[in-house]
Amino acid sequence: MDATTRHEFRVLLQAQRDELLAGVGASERLLDAIREARADTPADDEHDPEGGTMSAEWSRAEGLLEGVQRELAELDAALARLGDGTYGVCTGCGSAIPLERLRVRPAAQECVACASAPSRARR
Ligand SMILES: [Zn+2]
Repeated sequence: MDATTRHEFRVLLQAQRDELLAGVGASERLLDAIREARADTPADDEHDPEGGTMSAEWSRAEGLLEGVQRELAELDAALARLGDGTYGVCTGCGSAIPLERLRVRPAAQECVACASAPSRARR
């Protein structure tokens, strides 16, 4: 991978990272808002018809935040690989990941074959 291509992906990864960080902020604000709303209501969930809704909101916001944080970790890892020169190399088979795939999914660590291999043991 040449310097121009590396630069292209660095820009791409950093743009995605900025977007995700904005998403983390939004999710954290949502969790804060739910926490505040909860503090205002009595802790009697069983007789409070709003209690169930609140819990559902909470798990949705938490799930959202977890997903964003996971993606963020993937992007950080991809940026680190850009730095040490292993970016774009499949962690499964060691071959180069096609640029078309990286353009669609810049944080991809595996080629399509490895990523979709059903037999491969996952940790
Ligand atoms: Zn592979």
